[in-house]
Amino acid sequence: MEITLTCSECGSGINFAPVKGADSVQCHICETKNSVTFNEEILHGNVCECPNCGRQDFYKQKDFNRKIGVVLFVIASILAIWTYGISLIVLYIFDFLLYKKIGDVVACYKCNTLFRKVANIESIHPFDHEMNDRIIYADHDFKGQAPSH
Ligand SMILES: [Zn+2]
Ligand SMILES: [Zn+2]
Repeated sequence: MEITLTCSECGSGINFAPVKGADSVQCHICETKNSVTFNEEILHGNVCECPNCGRQDFYKQKDFNRKIGVVLFVIASILAIWTYGISLIVLYIFDFLLYKKIGDVVACYKCNTLFRKVANIESIHPFDHEMNDRIIYADHDFKGQAPSH
């Protein structure tokens, strides 16, 4: 498993793998030590409890860089004027192929810590707006139980 933590001090991404017994990871940029807790589950590649904030609410999404997607769309839209829209079709096919190739990434609702190569990916639900709003704005703790509709 690969974990990407956001440094509490400078906001940089810190990439690391869970190590048994470790209680902090150091930021490569500002050298701040961010405290983490690794339980048995996470050492086995299962995301159950966030090593950073201790919450149990996660969502999965495609590991796709949205900024690149937007830039490509803008370029294709401009080119579409001269290519009679063909560039948009090319982008669409490209997007589709790319989308199939990228894996899922699991994220913590509370602190946005990212997890890649997750073993229990099938048990993680997609992003839920209601959960996100309640966790971010009302600090609600679902304890891993998604609200039933
Ligand atoms: Zn930092
Ligand atoms: Zn977290």
